[in-house]
Amino acid sequence: MSNARIKMANPVAEMDGDEMTRIIWAEIKARLLEPFVELDTEYYDLGLPNRDATDDAVTHQAAEAVKRLRVGVKCATITPNFQRVEEYKLKKMWRSPNGTIRNALDGTVFRKPVICKRLKRYIPGWTEPVTVARHGYGDLYRDAEIRVDGPGSADLVFKGADGAEKRERIYDFEGPGVLQGCYNKDSSIRNFARSCFEFALSEKRDLWFSTKDTIMKQYDGLFKETFARMYEEEYRERFEKAGITYFYTLIDDAVARLVRSNGGMVWALKNYDGDVMSDMVSAAFGSLAMMTSVLVSADGCYEYEAAHGTVTRHYYRHLKGEKTSTNPVATIFAWSGALRKRGEIDGTPDLCRFADSLEKATLGTIEAGTVTGDLAALMDPRPEAVDTNAFLDAVASRIA
Ligand code: NAP
Ligand code: MG
Repeated sequence: MSNARIKMANPVAEMDGDEMTRIIWAEIKARLLEPFVELDTEYYDLGLPNRDATDDAVTHQAAEAVKRLRVGVKCATITPNFQRVEEYKLKKMWRSPNGTIRNALDGTVFRKPVICKRLKRYIPGWTEPVTVARHGYGDLYRDAEIRVDGPGSADLVFKGADGAEKRERIYDFEGPGVLQGCYNKDSSIRNFARSCFEFALSEKRDLWFSTKDTIMKQYDGLFKETFARMYEEEYRERFEKAGITYFYTLIDDAVARLVRSNGGMVWALKNYDGDVMSDMVSAAFGSLAMMTSVLVSADGCYEYEAAHGTVTRHYYRHLKGEKTSTNPVATIFAWSGALRKRGEIDGTPDLCRFADSLEKATLGTIEAGTVTGDLAALMDPRPEAVDTNAFLDAVASRIA
């Protein structure tokens, strides 16, 4: 078999991660990729111990590699909190690697569910995938916060480079409280809008955008105006030709409309809104483990990953020697997405074809009733669940 393996013209940036997904990562490579492809990757270990050992430099190097190689694939990683600092004896509570990479690429995250006919959906009307486009820059993820100890006044102050000052009273505190400030940039909002318009065109899907500009008149207002202006100036004609529409509505109205729709749209949201809504959308499609995610920068760099985390609860069972039935589908689709994109950019159709067969084999395995526990629960009649490696082997035998 080894002499028939597909060659890669250029490497992808490979970012390893933590816990259960780190275990699955190695199994996917060994069982589904290396037997068929001469994998060429630049490897970055973003596992928490190595991030700590390198003072998080490895995360920044990985982000630079994605920019240089244009394609990356990432395993889920732990975002440290107080408990993790204790558990891993960390030097520092390192920032979220996804936040660091999103900021470095100034990209938009598109999350799209893998749909399978046999899986029950919690919103049965959603016969088409809902792709959530999440702005990946600034907002609450790069905020400044102050715990207010007692009475006093809070202002929002901007000091211009020319010395001019803008000031806005936030609140006169009569007692203790809390403060938050966040920012965004015109250039990043334009990039966000552009990625969304381009992605909707390439997928031939309607684009919805929603914010709360009735309340945040300046902040959300800037997002709304930017999208509207770019649509009129650059995209209306192309959208009409493609038979798709651009639609803006308030986020609460959008939520209500979405639940009554058949899905099928790309739904663009600010950073925090996208974080929250993408988990709701993925749960509605059945399992978090079926949600894929791709970070796209305005200059065309792609970073693929699963939307779920490191599946800590399963990892602790794995450490006790138990077999786990953790679903590897979103991680498999991260690899297929990255390899297909590598093939598209390099003009190597064999690699694209391999990505197609990998996805087809994965979906075929599920349709045939060989599934992990999370999916078994969504099927009627309910099949016997298999463990992760048995699922991977079933997929491998279908590719072969
Ligand atoms: P999680 O790892 O996504 O898992 C939450 C629960 O969802 C699991 O306990 C499991 O439910 C189910 N689940 C998720 N993925 C699954 C899969 N592939 N197969 C089967 N079930 C799956 O979220 P979390 O427990 O909140 O976070 C764990 C760690 O992941 C945290 O340290 C967090 O910082 C990190 N995280 C990383 C990313 C990322 O790197 N992109 C994203 C989110 C969270 P049951 O236990 O009921 O089976
Ligand atoms: Mg989230």
